[in-house]
Amino acid sequence: MDHATVDGEEYREVVARYRGSVVVAKIRNGGLMVCPVCGKYYFSSEKDLILHIISHAKQELYRYTDNGQDKQHKQ
Ligand SMILES: [Zn+2]
Repeated sequence: MDHATVDGEEYREVVARYRGSVVVAKIRNGGLMVCPVCGKYYFSSEKDLILHIISHAKQELYRYTDNGQDKQHKQ
């Protein structure tokens, strides 16, 4: 783990694992892991963090599916 200070606040990095997925997330002073994709959401468990990141991945995937293209054509 790396220790660093950003804007006077200590940052640590943690490697979160859940069912074979590995994610590196930053930890705030309060001990909560920050979503590395959007930086908007905080999690206390590795499972919740990774499930949240998977939801980001599904949104990206949806853009390249046939359904996503059909939806764009209708707009
Ligand atoms: Zn996020």
